Amino acid sequence: MMTRDGELRRARGRKSRERSGTAPRSEEAVLQDRVRQLLAEGELPKEPATRIIAGFGDGAVCFVCERPVQSSDVAYQLSFGAGAGARSVVMHYSCFILWDRERAAPTGDTPPVQPPTE
Ligand SMILES: [Zn+2]
Repeated sequence: MMTRDGELRRARGRKSRERSGTAPRSEEAVLQDRVRQLLAEGELPKEPATRIIAGFGDGAVCFVCERPVQSSDVAYQLSFGAGAGARSVVMHYSCFILWDRERAAPTGDTPPVQPPTE
């Protein structure tokens, strides 16, 4: 049996939301899985967007991670298809990068993306 005082103390200090440096990779792995799932289900196309509008978020929910895109976050509004089948989704820049990578490399053995957020 091991007593790990330091570990316990750190675990208690983890109450606040994850900040950069703690464990961003696991969260990214979760998002990567979700992007793959969306691609597999056809929710996100494997084709590039027909139109991309970059800007800041307005609180709309990100299509990938399902969190609001805040006004301080870079948001990408992507349009797919044309005519009656056209649709558009909003996602974080970092989520867009994940999708862009996954659709281009569906084998899944790519190294994790380093998001530009600090
Ligand atoms: Zn997102």
